[in-house]
Amino acid sequence: MSEALLEIKNLKKYYGKGDSLVKALDDISFNVYKGEMLVLLGNSGCGKSTLLNIIGGMDSPTDGQVLLNGEDITHYKDKELTKYRKEKIGFIFQFYNLLPDLTALENVRMSLPKKDENHLGEKTLELVGLGDKKMHQYPSQMSGGEQQRVSIARALVKGAEIILCDEPTGALDDKTGRKILELLQDIVRKQGQTMVIVTHTTPIADMANRVITLKNGKIIKEKVNEKPIDAKDIEW
Ligand code: ADP
Ligand code: MG
Repeated sequence: MSEALLEIKNLKKYYGKGDSLVKALDDISFNVYKGEMLVLLGNSGCGKSTLLNIIGGMDSPTDGQVLLNGEDITHYKDKELTKYRKEKIGFIFQFYNLLPDLTALENVRMSLPKKDENHLGEKTLELVGLGDKKMHQYPSQMSGGEQQRVSIARALVKGAEIILCDEPTGALDDKTGRKILELLQDIVRKQGQTMVIVTHTTPIADMANRVITLKNGKIIKEKVNEKPIDAKDIEW
């Protein structure tokens, strides 16, 4: 594949000490390449969220490096980290994390670095299937699938270098979840967006270009899917 956008080098995250030491990430190294969909697969507690949060600049490692375009973010001060999170990273959470007092459109606009780009809010919501009246509704007036679409638009609108998704279908029923995966796959295929999806649901891995399996904070397997399946054909 193409050049490495993100390089993870010997990443470690430890909690506690002595007998209660937990190695949430135990010396992890891998690259993420431009334009790929990478799935990080593993059971609950294997370190997926910890890893994604560190890549997203929301948590710091005990040791190791995270390089985006060759620049190590692990030594960033607060101000640089905030800028990194705001401009470079799009984050999609299991429970959407929308601001309840803002409409869909306002939630999406919040993530734009510049106010003069406000028109991109409507455009991006249309792209995720929430045109017209929907975009003026509040999260509480929307279904889970619709809220996740808003959160995808919020991640997309700012032109992030990489989109990180932590169990993006974890709170949705199968059918709605599959629709969300179709949308994510479409975004990678049509826009060349780079995306990392974390999941414990094995069949989801078949839609990825590459799959890295984690266990107890370690990488136990890496696999390239020569022919990723269409998200609409995933069964789980
Ligand atoms: P996953 O997302 O794969 O379910 P996590 O990254 O949430 O896994 O957690 C990995 C391990 O680190 C688990 O054993 C979890 O209990 C532990 N862990 C996560 N966050 C903390 C924390 N703040 N303090 C102590 N242990 C933690
Ligand atoms: Mg998790």
